[in-house]
Amino acid sequence: MADIYVFLGPPGVGKGTLGDLFCAETGAIHVSTGQLLRDEMAKHSEIGIQVKDLIAKGELISDDVVAAMVTNRLGEKDIQSKGCLLDGFPRTTHQADMLDSILTETGNRLAAVLLIEADRDMLISRLTSRRVCSNQACGAIYNINSQRPAKEGICDRCGSKLVQRSDDSESTAIERLHVYDVQTAPLIAYYTASGQLVRTQSRDVDAKENYQALKTALA
Ligand code: AMP
Repeated sequence: MADIYVFLGPPGVGKGTLGDLFCAETGAIHVSTGQLLRDEMAKHSEIGIQVKDLIAKGELISDDVVAAMVTNRLGEKDIQSKGCLLDGFPRTTHQADMLDSILTETGNRLAAVLLIEADRDMLISRLTSRRVCSNQACGAIYNINSQRPAKEGICDRCGSKLVQRSDDSESTAIERLHVYDVQTAPLIAYYTASGQLVRTQSRDVDAKENYQALKTALA
């Protein structure tokens, strides 16, 4: 039975970056539902074509589609042995109920739900200045203000071109934060009630400093 950690928090709070640091240290597998969906879009699969417009508008994909992807991924062997960090799922209370069934079905257990919070102005600025590696297999994350690559527009890790995500424009970032407030924030009360919520604050400092705060919260 593997440990599953959930990282919960608004878009731009650093779930991807902190998740990478967490997985590098613990050996857990980083499963981002946003990334799984972007992979489907890159492959032009049926799901990819179906979700493209909703993602570009900053809206949520249906619970059933995302839950099916998570069920498949959590059932795979690497996760059974190493555990996993779920980044971006659950995003609604219905998905949280679905996660319970998925964990039972795949033989895993919820170790903790970590809520990462941050100042709202900082989130908009972080989202619009975020750049990501265009190489799907790399997926490194940068920020043109605070986490610049050594060579402008080029990934330090793999040398591929850096791009802006289609949903990181200012208007879509604002919509995504609104969607978070309405559909995802109720999970805070949900997991507080179940006694599984741990909180940490993401500040405008180096990612490693925020990661230390996260580890202290989880300890
Ligand atoms: P993220 O990479 O987590 O910011 O997700 C990017 C986009 O993918 C979101 O704005 C949603 O459109 C979609 N998405 C990711 N995870 C979920 C989820 N659990 N439920 C519904 N839509 C999701």
